[in-house]
Amino acid sequence: MRCERHQRQIRAMARGEIIGSLKLREHARHCLRCQAEMSRERRIQRELQALRDELPIPGGLATRILESVESLDRGSIIVRKQRSKIAGLCALGVALAVGLTSRPGRRRVSQAS
Ligand SMILES: [Zn+2]
Repeated sequence: MRCERHQRQIRAMARGEIIGSLKLREHARHCLRCQAEMSRERRIQRELQALRDELPIPGGLATRILESVESLDRGSIIVRKQRSKIAGLCALGVALAVGLTSRPGRRRVSQAS
């Protein structure tokens, strides 16, 4: 199985949006790469959730960032070069959001852990 072709589904599985096919679940159980992808996705989701909790941004910047990340996934490898600009903007948005939260001194630590 080609992992990169299923990363979108793997990430959706990590978010709990889909259960995923039996074939894919079987694969993810044994594939370190897909497991890493899933844990990475869960971490990103936690970070974004924390950001959304901390920042009362009008219009939901964090949501827009999340949507940009989502839309990046939809493109194929061929358009990756065109997407790098968008990815840069997206990273800038995240950096901005993080910068906003950390500026007033210490950032509230998530209560999760
Ligand atoms: Zn895999």
